[in-house]
Amino acid sequence: MISTSDEVLLRRAIEIAAHATTLGDAPYGSLLAGTDGTILAEAHNTVRRDNDISAHPELKLARWAARELDPDTAARTTLYTSCQPCGMCTGGIARSGLGRVVYALSTAQLVELNPESGAWPTVAQDGPALFDAARVPVDDYYRHHRP
Ligand SMILES: [Zn+2]
Repeated sequence: MISTSDEVLLRRAIEIAAHATTLGDAPYGSLLAGTDGTILAEAHNTVRRDNDISAHPELKLARWAARELDPDTAARTTLYTSCQPCGMCTGGIARSGLGRVVYALSTAQLVELNPESGAWPTVAQDGPALFDAARVPVDDYYRHHRP
């Protein structure tokens, strides 16, 4: 359920997306807010500028939160973003322990506006293989590092 105060912060994420285009960057913006609506950090897409496929704003904020916030604080944040997070960012958000995501455009709506946004190929993955060899470093690591 998206509240009126969510919409205020979502509009700010859309402003960040619009501002990104004035800098020559792609039109995607996000922010991370605390429970009282305080904005903790903002980011926009800098994939072209940084020549970095991972420079999505959602992933930048997830990485920032994992690095700068303790887990309890991170769990009480909400990520507001102009578009629904892609698969890469969804994985980063899950690992960062953020509490909630609120987005404006869905992936389907974005693809309708720009069909190239959904044109990612599926890369073949072959495996599992070599279990007896591959398990050794994992077994060794967790035998010595388990709390
Ligand atoms: Zn993404």
